Amino acid sequence: MSQYWSKLVHSLTPYVPGEQPKINNLIKLNTNENPYGPSPKVIAALQKEAADTLRLYPDPNSDALKQAVAKYHGLNSNQVFVGNGSDEVLAHVFNALLKHDKPVLFPDITYSFYPVYCGLYEIEFETVPLNDTFEIKVDDYSKANGGIIFPNPNAPTGRLVALADIERLLKHNTDSVVVIDEAYVDFGGESAVRLVNQYPQLLVTHTLSKGRSLAGLRVGYAVGHPDLIDALHRVKDSFNSYPLDRFAQAGAIAAMEDQAYFENCCQRVIETRRVVVEAMQRLGFEVLPSGANFIFARHPNHDAAHLSGLLREQKIIVRHFKKPARINQFLRITIGTDLECQALTSALESMIKS
Ligand SMILES: *Cc1c(COP(=O)(O)O)cnc(C)c1O
Repeated sequence: MSQYWSKLVHSLTPYVPGEQPKINNLIKLNTNENPYGPSPKVIAALQKEAADTLRLYPDPNSDALKQAVAKYHGLNSNQVFVGNGSDEVLAHVFNALLKHDKPVLFPDITYSFYPVYCGLYEIEFETVPLNDTFEIKVDDYSKANGGIIFPNPNAPTGRLVALADIERLLKHNTDSVVVIDEAYVDFGGESAVRLVNQYPQLLVTHTLSKGRSLAGLRVGYAVGHPDLIDALHRVKDSFNSYPLDRFAQAGAIAAMEDQAYFENCCQRVIETRRVVVEAMQRLGFEVLPSGANFIFARHPNHDAAHLSGLLREQKIIVRHFKKPARINQFLRITIGTDLECQALTSALESMIKS
């Protein structure tokens, strides 16, 4: 603390990202990265970009990348906004579209960055409890609001909301923006992107960090009605004109264009998830149904913090949330390679049997 801090800085409670340990040979199942590297075409595009042209600013509008995203989704590029990771896109979304007189609504158990953005931009929010089986029930959001946001599948539960439910929500909620954060949609969810032409209040955000194996490149995007996209551009150009550097733009274009590689990685993760869920259930874990590249699981007889500590001793890192109390007996485990997941389940087996 310092007398030089602004009042706002004193009031902030920043987000704490999952640990990025500086130790080698860890089995890192704590931050939902893809276990497979990016497409070789992405690497080639990045190598090509390491050139004299780095003395020049990048395209401030990322036009070629927007076109690649638009093409992938069958939209126009004026329906696309890109940013430095979807976290940055979401920050602009809160500032540009969710700051109104009524509170923004999101689940009580969800991506913990949402309340942080509300703190930064001084936005009032109200949380809506998940039901007993940790599901988002869209009918619980039928109340006055300044906007609605949730991830689908939700984090850290992995549970999916059906597209028909999202459409019902959009039919009822026409006076404020509905944001669906599809960070994990590539692992088996139904994307709401196909609804954006019908619902001008719908904004869908995606990231290249998970499905496209590019957490290190920092690229995310939003798609929606051109008026919503325009608002995001107005905020972005009042903040940083060049959020995506030359590498990020070139790498992201190559990633969006290599659909076969991306689909194959996601399929492998989905198949490994099926195997891990079965193995964990055999060990007595309750595993929530997951549409994501992680699972959320608890054991009736073993404390989650204790298990997480024992795993760490074996160099296996998973995520344990101490708060809120309702989820403090769960572990969130990223789906790694088959070998990593075998190491996980055999470590858990010896802990549970001893
Ligand atoms: C990972 C994640 C993001 C952020 O992704 P980046 O593009 O890496 O910033 C956004 N929302 C949810 C729910 C996530 O889990």
